[in-house]
Amino acid sequence: MNAPLVPAAAGAPPRAMVCPECGEPAVARPPRTLLRYAVHGMSTPAWSHRDGEPLCPVMGAGGYRPAEPVAAETV
Ligand SMILES: [Zn+2]
Repeated sequence: MNAPLVPAAAGAPPRAMVCPECGEPAVARPPRTLLRYAVHGMSTPAWSHRDGEPLCPVMGAGGYRPAEPVAAETV
């Protein structure tokens, strides 16, 4: 399972994370559509869009997977 890549510097406020594909805010909460991942033997994403949908899919080594969120300021 991928750990959220949120900087954990002491005293630093948490960064706003966004989906790199659509730019919408990402929340550190598994998507509501968990069965889809279990069926395909994939780990459950730790992040989702605010509406509960997984982050936009990106092509990876094993096919499409939900994108990893990025810090808002880098988009
Ligand atoms: Zn997205």
